Amino acid sequence: MSDFDTNTLDQLRQKVWEANTSLPKAGLVKWAQGNASGRDPETNLVAIKPSGVQLDQLTVEQIVIVDLEGNVVDGDMKPSIDTASHLYVYRHRDDVNGIVHTHSPHATSFAVRGEPIGVYTTTAAALFGGAIPISRFATIGEEAIGCEIVTKIGNSSAILLRSHGVFTIGVTPNEALKYAIYVEEEAEIINLARQQLALQQKAPLIELDSELVAEARRMYLHDYGQQ
Ligand SMILES: [Zn+2]
Repeated sequence: MSDFDTNTLDQLRQKVWEANTSLPKAGLVKWAQGNASGRDPETNLVAIKPSGVQLDQLTVEQIVIVDLEGNVVDGDMKPSIDTASHLYVYRHRDDVNGIVHTHSPHATSFAVRGEPIGVYTTTAAALFGGAIPISRFATIGEEAIGCEIVTKIGNSSAILLRSHGVFTIGVTPNEALKYAIYVEEEAEIINLARQQLALQQKAPLIELDSELVAEARRMYLHDYGQQ
């Protein structure tokens, strides 16, 4: 440190700290699981959670700053074990400046079953525009998870990692957090609906047809919110 604007780094650290500490508050992770990162598009510096730190005890100063090759630029701690995979995504997706990873239980139950999360609600149609895809199994620690994300995520903002958990991407860390929250909610709704149908010995759940999905997506992109 530091040829870089300390203001920029402070703001990036703050945003990434907020996304990380929101994970347990939103019920998406336990203890030290999961991580969030953010990229500053001007400098390409990435802020990410330190490895193995309990999220409810994480401080802003502990957030590690790395460059796109994984060199620690600022910070005293070792970055997350998933750092290489986050950086792989940032190097291959210029539109992504925030990434969230969780093991949220309902979404991970789909990842364990090897099942994409289909579109059963208008919310899923609007937010994701289609099914949330699932990757092959990838080992932790190097770029393998990042390769699977870039190859399989397509136009979605979320992907399930086979037998592992969830990765979501966004224009900001906060947007990636939003998608992580909605992925878990969708998975929980589907699991609950299936349990009820199974108890009542009724027919399986029906996904929305593609016209309804397209219409809900169009409404979300063009009419929803404050514009
Ligand atoms: Zn994980």
